Amino acid sequence: MKKQAHIGTRCVWSGEEGRSSNGPTQVPVVHSVSFGFDDIDEWQAVALGDLPGDIYGRNTNPTVRAFEEKIRQLEGADAATSASTGMGIISNTLYTLLKTGDRVVSVKDTYGGTSVLFSEFLPRLQVDVALCDTTDHEMIESEIKKGCTVLYLETPTNPTNKILDIDRLCRVARAAGATIVVDNTFATPINQSPLELGADLVLHSATKFLGGHADALGGVVCGSQHLIEQIYHYREINGATLHPMAAYLLLRGVKTLDLRIQRQNESALKIARYLENHTAVDRVFYPGLESHEGHEIARNQMRGFGGMLSFMLKEDSFEAVRRLIPRLRFAHAAANLGSVETIVGPPSTTSHVECTVEERAALGIPESLIRYSTGIEHCDDLIADLEQALKFS
Ligand SMILES: *Cc1c(COP(=O)(O)O)cnc(C)c1O
Repeated sequence: MKKQAHIGTRCVWSGEEGRSSNGPTQVPVVHSVSFGFDDIDEWQAVALGDLPGDIYGRNTNPTVRAFEEKIRQLEGADAATSASTGMGIISNTLYTLLKTGDRVVSVKDTYGGTSVLFSEFLPRLQVDVALCDTTDHEMIESEIKKGCTVLYLETPTNPTNKILDIDRLCRVARAAGATIVVDNTFATPINQSPLELGADLVLHSATKFLGGHADALGGVVCGSQHLIEQIYHYREINGATLHPMAAYLLLRGVKTLDLRIQRQNESALKIARYLENHTAVDRVFYPGLESHEGHEIARNQMRGFGGMLSFMLKEDSFEAVRRLIPRLRFAHAAANLGSVETIVGPPSTTSHVECTVEERAALGIPESLIRYSTGIEHCDDLIADLEQALKFS
């Protein structure tokens, strides 16, 4: 019944079922590590999975389950499982799906931590990793056709908002027998539904927009029962469990997800248009702009273009960035995104800190690039803030 409700309603109510008369209206934070039994046979049945229930906190916990259930319903999946961080869920997913001799196809612009898995850790397992130019769909397709266990996509990408055509790449990957994983952190379930576009698994750094308040780390993955059970099993042994307190904070954050994302979609588009017309700005990277090379694809597969934008200055130097950022009044200069507060940072201190100037240039990341994660402040104040900060650049 609740599945038919609008997504904003599901943000509030999904996963909150199971309240009892005179019980708490809010999901309780269950800190207890273990769960006791009066009956040994019942304990055994829960342990064997024949009865629902919790035994030990590294495996399952009621608060964590409520969070997983909320995201499962928002992504329209059969099942979901979580981890302590976004990287926790990404690494657990990839290590579940891949073994020695397998081949993964992805793109060069994945999140910094993910690209370290691809360049450093998966090759240690003798997993063959093919990283394609993010905007070259033909190259991605031909790499998939060479053989592919996992196709790993992220769209929009960090920090230049490149767009991958999920439906198009899923068709080719499905024919090749690959399992398709999409990192939906930037878009959120409000703006994009990768499972409907053909993906097998959709995952999030819940630390960002899902939680939305920059006060809890977490990760979540959704998909078929069969795949999620395998990832859960790897994660319960690997031990990267989501903390119940973090799960509670994330649950509370998700209740306002639709409100926040609608506001951030609207403000980011206005700010992108404002910056595009500013004389001190050379280029704006936002998929909602007609000038963006992925705009048509984004219009087809996204319901909104998100709160993330980036821009480069006419004076393309890190010095210009160093002058500009401290002048912003309504923006944290910090390595985070997706919060209620606006957050800015250059890729050289955030997503691409491990890269040299030359490597960043090869990825099309200019030295004057500024990543701007639009918060929920009044848009006029954000534009006025940028106006005064850009005057001196
Ligand atoms: C932040 C981020 C991650 C990693 O999440 P953590 O919670 O920091 O581990 C993964 N993917 C994307 C797109 C991100 O922005």
